[in-house]
Amino acid sequence: MAALLGAIADDFTGATDLAGMLVKHGMRTVQMFGVPRTLPPASVDAIVVALKTRTAPPADAVEASLEALRWLRDAGCRQFLFKYCSTFDSSDRGNIGPVAEALMDAVGADFTIACPAFPANGRAVFRGYLFVGDVLLSESGMRHHPLTPMTDSNLVRVLQRQSKRRVGLVPFESVRGGEAEIRRAFESARGAGAGIAIVDAASDDDLMAIGAACRDLPLVTGGSGIAMGLPDNFRSQGLLPADQPAGRLPRIEGFEAVISGSCSPATLRQAARMREVAPAFQIDPLRVASGADVVAEAADWASGRLGSGPVLVYATAEPAAVKRVQDDLGAERAGAMVERTLAAIACRLVDMGVRRLIVAGGETAGAVAGTLRLAGLRIGDEIDPGVPWTVSLGERPLALALKSGNFGTDDFFLKAWSRLP
Ligand code: ADP
Repeated sequence: MAALLGAIADDFTGATDLAGMLVKHGMRTVQMFGVPRTLPPASVDAIVVALKTRTAPPADAVEASLEALRWLRDAGCRQFLFKYCSTFDSSDRGNIGPVAEALMDAVGADFTIACPAFPANGRAVFRGYLFVGDVLLSESGMRHHPLTPMTDSNLVRVLQRQSKRRVGLVPFESVRGGEAEIRRAFESARGAGAGIAIVDAASDDDLMAIGAACRDLPLVTGGSGIAMGLPDNFRSQGLLPADQPAGRLPRIEGFEAVISGSCSPATLRQAARMREVAPAFQIDPLRVASGADVVAEAADWASGRLGSGPVLVYATAEPAAVKRVQDDLGAERAGAMVERTLAAIACRLVDMGVRRLIVAGGETAGAVAGTLRLAGLRIGDEIDPGVPWTVSLGERPLALALKSGNFGTDDFFLKAWSRLP
């Protein structure tokens, strides 16, 4: 059966977040890196296309999003979700408004909602104002964001500045009134000339009711939270089985390795814990910079060690050591060089039979995924919050856990293997 829900995410980590949310709520989900060139995978209920359009020029963001939409339509999806950050990261030029409106035009929608609320992460919308934890968005750290500083907490105003259509509000009273009341509020916003409505929400129950009210909207926009209420609509129409183990992955046999390029505190602890019990190879960025063939050295080192438990290859270092390297090479150059080196080592390890791989670090994971030319990932159950096992699409599937720096318990690199099917 074809996929049901097609999502377009404006950045990679946001896409992973959304995919995890959909799996948790019973949809078998794949995440694609960029607009796919391949046919859609079989046996999935939701597809998330991960773009990098959050801070792109609006015309480019619109073009990429429309391309993703076309592919998702061809994949059979019948409802579409435009996913952005729960802190509504955008500038007055866009890209939330321009992309939402272009998608509305393309699917023929005269009304959609915008709801970034994600109560589990402290994002709530009240009277159209976005709160981050206990403070307004404009008082949160987001006001200093280097690319998308958010200095106005009123999302009706923020979105209106980026949109041609009128932006309305579905207030809290309507949301607390439940699904039917929310539908009526959609109608009255539409009747008052609004093409897009910011929707108040402060709890998961609110999001479930909003999701139910969105059943007949061809396009929904919001943060990951808005996705939790959508799967029930497909279930109630008999399109999605109840209680399916959406995160079940095929079993992947092969050697195990951890590639760690994050220097975040959690990863420092995880690498230290693994070094106590497993073979470990440290990358010295200064040797890489001096021209030493560190990739070949790491591959030689690994060749005798693979197969009797996981091995660790790491650049992970304490802040003082990182600073020394950065003072010498420049932060950006050092970072890119280490990412390239780790990605090349990951490829060599895969050639040597590694099929189960943990990669630590957001940028590092991006580099590894690019070098391995991964088209997409089937998303499994979470190992720890925010870190699922995944299986790559394609002929030589790998089991992969791509871990953001600060995620996971201290024994993550050791315990994760036992969570594989
Ligand atoms: P996180 O998710 O913790 O932010 P990332 O992989 O996104 O991790 O970022 C870590 C950055 O630090 C990468 O660019 C990586 O190449 C770089 N890096 C890793 N180890 C070192 C090191 N020893 N010295 C300098 N830079 C390093």
